[in-house]
Amino acid sequence: MSDLDSSSSSAYPKYLEHLSGDGKAIGVLTSGGDAQGMNAAVRAVVRMGIYTGAKVYFIYEGYQGLVDGGSNIVEAKWDCVSSILQVGGTIIGSARCKAFRSREGRLKAACNLARLGITNLCVIGGDGSLTGANLFRKEWSGLLEKLARNGDIDNDTVQKYSYLNVVGMVGSIDNDFCGTDMTIGTDSALHRIIEVVDAIMTTAQSHQRTFVLEVMGRHCGYLALVSALTCGADWVFLPESPPEEDWEENMCLKLSEVTGNLAMLLE
Ligand code: ADP
Ligand code: MG
Repeated sequence: MSDLDSSSSSAYPKYLEHLSGDGKAIGVLTSGGDAQGMNAAVRAVVRMGIYTGAKVYFIYEGYQGLVDGGSNIVEAKWDCVSSILQVGGTIIGSARCKAFRSREGRLKAACNLARLGITNLCVIGGDGSLTGANLFRKEWSGLLEKLARNGDIDNDTVQKYSYLNVVGMVGSIDNDFCGTDMTIGTDSALHRIIEVVDAIMTTAQSHQRTFVLEVMGRHCGYLALVSALTCGADWVFLPESPPEEDWEENMCLKLSEVTGNLAMLLE
């Protein structure tokens, strides 16, 4: 598919006409903890962006690359995202960036974007990354005005790029974001937990022992609950449903009733 001609919007099927990205630039970054599926999301942004005629830029190392600019912001071509669908992690790197938490850092980031005419930003990350993206969007016009006052950009740039469009894609294995049924990485994390439980079950059966498993998910019990159900665990702790008083006694009673092999899931 590398020979797809994306330069002419007149080649679009009728139903894609309204998606014309001619003259637009999109930046894509991955931020915070990595999640399986981030690469597929990056690929989709790059290919769809190019398909609509937009320029797409990789922003390496999350917000750190946005703040540092230079070689961290590079135009992406169609072939740059070949053969990454199945690859874990993120090919454009992820980082946690202290500087982006300050207005000073976000001012530098705005300067780097405005100079390249990037007014569309796709952030693939978790709750922190998307909170930061929303703040950046809200501050954007004020940041550009400040840059113009400092002489870093001219007034035409302020007028031309006065609005920042932000798209957030929730990259988090925890499934902890409202408004989305399944976050990027959750299903792979569940798959991995079940693989591990299946392996432990053979030892549990051989030794007639109880195993306590702590699974991923932080403050969200989705992974603990669904893996407990699918693996037939005898007891589960969920952050949304803290155990009642005397839970130790009840748990021991329940476990002693069950013969055979027990898997307990603890979050
Ligand atoms: P995740 O996106 O996986 O929740 P973090 O919470 O570590 O990961 O956030 C990733 C990055 O997003 C931080 O290192 C920081 O650069 C940025 N960020 C997080 N919260 C904020 C915030 N309130 N304001 C600005 N930037 C933020
Ligand atoms: Mg987070």
